[in-house]
Amino acid sequence: DESLASFDPDVHAAITAELARQQGTLELIASENFAPVSVMEAQGSVLTNKYAEGYPGRRYYGGCEHVDVIEQLAIDRVKELFGAEAANVQPHSGAQANAAAMFALLDPGDTILGLDLAHGGHLTHGMRINFSGKLYDVVAYHVDDTDFRVDMAEVERLALEHRPKLIVAGWSAYPRQLDFAEFRRIADLVGAYLMVDMAHFAGLVATGLHPSPVPHADIVTTTTHKTLGGPRGGVILSKAELAKKINSAVFPGQQGGPLEHVVAAKAVAFKMAASPEFKERQERTLEGARILAERLTRPDVVEAGVSVLTGGTEVHLVLVDLRDSELDGQQAEDRLHSIGLTVNRNAVPFDPRPPMVTSGLRIGTPALATRGFGAEAFAEVADVIAEALKPSYDEGVAAKLRERVAALAAAHPLYPELS
Ligand code: PLP
Repeated sequence: DESLASFDPDVHAAITAELARQQGTLELIASENFAPVSVMEAQGSVLTNKYAEGYPGRRYYGGCEHVDVIEQLAIDRVKELFGAEAANVQPHSGAQANAAAMFALLDPGDTILGLDLAHGGHLTHGMRINFSGKLYDVVAYHVDDTDFRVDMAEVERLALEHRPKLIVAGWSAYPRQLDFAEFRRIADLVGAYLMVDMAHFAGLVATGLHPSPVPHADIVTTTTHKTLGGPRGGVILSKAELAKKINSAVFPGQQGGPLEHVVAAKAVAFKMAASPEFKERQERTLEGARILAERLTRPDVVEAGVSVLTGGTEVHLVLVDLRDSELDGQQAEDRLHSIGLTVNRNAVPFDPRPPMVTSGLRIGTPALATRGFGAEAFAEVADVIAEALKPSYDEGVAAKLRERVAALAAAHPLYPELS
């Protein structure tokens, strides 16, 4: 019955320091968010003790009467939230959701068609040393080299040429909406399954602020911790006729015991995502990204060699283009980090610089929207970033920018109940 602080002061001190880091800096990593205390309470509960292999009502362990209630709530809520026919809420992560979905539909050696990692795709969409690239025969589609939008003519051409069994639509770094109906048309043309990985934009879909892939895709996978703002984890949605295959691909195909404490936290997050407050938060998320795009394409910024890929955004992130800047992605990331802004460097398509250096930054607004940021605060964030990326940046400028960041953080308290 010893507390963490007294039993393990080393781990406790690092957690306390991490809380202070999250509170004192501005989080702009597009895949991150702040889970509410209710989600963390469910995730930190006694459910972590329970084995529950199987599914509600069909378990391989006794004593599952309460976890059955919880998992069924999560399933019912996520089906309702996205209008899906079937849901599996057990994948431990987004990568495992994708692994299980592919395991359900494909045999090793089958062909998949996915967005190239260097053009915004995810590792699990066919990267060479990922399971997806090792198990399957991968063909990659790309963005167009002039407008930087997914080249649907290339998708169709590659589909006709390679006859994939699965087409994967979805991205980790792309600032625009995809045309799901067009992906469906191409999949039908060659008899392929269509899987949409909406991990990044699921919160926008849940609130009707982004087109839903659910009516078009055979399978939709997602994470629950990005725009959705819940615990770290994955979900697979599908048409009813694929549900059995998917369930057995998750367990026993890919996983053993489900993390019922995380499943409970997912159920809480799905309830939250159905609320009007969540929709208002997603609206601020989108508005923030639009403000960033607008302010990072102003003439004084462009003159410094900085711009935004595709000239704007329709989602929760912008991709800053540094190809014409003397600053590379690594230097820009470090510079923003030094004034209290956390972003990640990101290769831009056709990047002239090496992958560990890059010519881009991925900047997302979900976490700050959760922190209560509105139009005015996002404009201030955008201006701070713009100043930091200009050649006039020096230690004097940095000191002033640090003060502006600290003021924004102080005006938007995070987890006051935890400190
Ligand atoms: N799918 C997409 C599109 C992602 O961006 C990510 C995470 O970055 C994942 C899947 C994997 O999620 P996880 O990190 O939970 O495995």
